[in-house]
Amino acid sequence: MIRAVMVAPGAIELQEVPVRDPGPNEVLVKVKACGICTWEQRFYRGIEGSYPFLGGHEIAGEVVSVGGQVAEKLYPGQKVAVASLTRCGECYYCRRGLDHLCANAGEKSTPGEYWGPAGFAEYIIARGYEVYPLDDTVDPVHATFAEPLACVTKSINRGNLRFGDTAVILGAGVMGLLHLKLARLRGARVIISEPDAARREKALHLGAIAAIDPRQEDLPGRVKELTSGRGAEAVFFTAGGTPALAEGTKLLVKGGTLVVYGSIHPAVPLDLNPNDLHYDEYTLTGSIRHDKESFRQATALLSAGIVDVRDLISACFPFKEIDAAFKEAIRPETFRVVLTFTN
Ligand SMILES: [Zn+2]
Ligand SMILES: [Zn+2]
Repeated sequence: MIRAVMVAPGAIELQEVPVRDPGPNEVLVKVKACGICTWEQRFYRGIEGSYPFLGGHEIAGEVVSVGGQVAEKLYPGQKVAVASLTRCGECYYCRRGLDHLCANAGEKSTPGEYWGPAGFAEYIIARGYEVYPLDDTVDPVHATFAEPLACVTKSINRGNLRFGDTAVILGAGVMGLLHLKLARLRGARVIISEPDAARREKALHLGAIAAIDPRQEDLPGRVKELTSGRGAEAVFFTAGGTPALAEGTKLLVKGGTLVVYGSIHPAVPLDLNPNDLHYDEYTLTGSIRHDKESFRQATALLSAGIVDVRDLISACFPFKEIDAAFKEAIRPETFRVVLTFTN
């Protein structure tokens, strides 16, 4: 099979390596499509990362063969999404139901092998618990959104939205717009804060009640105006750096929740008044990765056709044009770029 190895920032090599049979708890999956996430883009741009690196964690494919001890009844040809994240099932966090924080979740699973989720390859060996069946009707290109959607189902759950609440989403990139879609499914009114005019337009098209330019407008004032003077029940930070995050705390109703979904590079400490936490009882929390349950929810949403992701896909590239795909993906105007496999 062919796999892509990022050997240095901006340098991807295609290598031919053997396909191995799955072990007792493993599944061999033929990759049909794989998204290029912001995380891998940071490696490509040299902002973070260590090399050589096997990227590709937004993986959709078909089952080829199944190890003898895999519990789920998987059959060859079955459509699946792969949640490429090791969970040991035995550590404190796994036992506490926080499997996404597993103490043994290192992506480097095979000794002597390069590290990384390894979805930029024609085949992948996944552990049984990483393989989620999908309805046969789901297009593999759309199914690559199982992983990002799973991160967002988890984030939305942490925001504790109730019917009729108002959510403010900071940033309208792919992750911001997935938050918009899921917050609306939760019965929330959504306000978007986004400096880019085209993204604001897209957010309005997808059902935001307002899309505000935080550089030109008084964001806290506008949010108050739109919420009877109170503020939003939940704020989700998906992009914008520390200043946007600091402003996010000024958008909350008393008792509201701010979820730090996005990471900040480089991070700057946040200036917080502890009395705001005391008197206004707001909750400041974060969300990282996906857990088994949020991945299950994401694949259920995709299988049932409840979330349409087509408007978030900017382009598809054949796998072997991965370098051109990365160059397209890192352009600021681009939403998701997906690699497709014809094997
Ligand atoms: Zn991702
Ligand atoms: Zn664990």
